Amino acid sequence: MMKLIDERKENKRKLILEVVVVMITLLASCTLIMLSGLLEMETWLRVTLIAIGLVVMFGGIGVAAVLEMTAGYFECRKCGEYFVPTKTAYIMGAHTVMHRHLKCPHCGKRNWCRRRLAPKDEEKENA
Ligand SMILES: [Zn+2]
Repeated sequence: MMKLIDERKENKRKLILEVVVVMITLLASCTLIMLSGLLEMETWLRVTLIAIGLVVMFGGIGVAAVLEMTAGYFECRKCGEYFVPTKTAYIMGAHTVMHRHLKCPHCGKRNWCRRRLAPKDEEKENA
């Protein structure tokens, strides 16, 4: 029981951390790119700033994606089973914050699966 409760907390923490990482990333990279456009400077410096801004942006999005990918389960709307998607399916799938279009490994149907923070057994107990 303790392990399941910790997992839920851990997954919630990851999702919160993900939002923080995305915000810091966007703030930092947008600031760099905006400064490079607004300030008078040498071309090489401008290019360098934009390059750093892009590296920060992609790096931050990568970290956020890893955090999100390892946080919790998805619930199939067709059969109600919970599952963890493969990395490829995860990256390729269209998504919103709490839903993702995935193929369910239990019934094989594609549908908008809902994110769950804990395994099915524990969700039932709290419902
Ligand atoms: Zn299913």
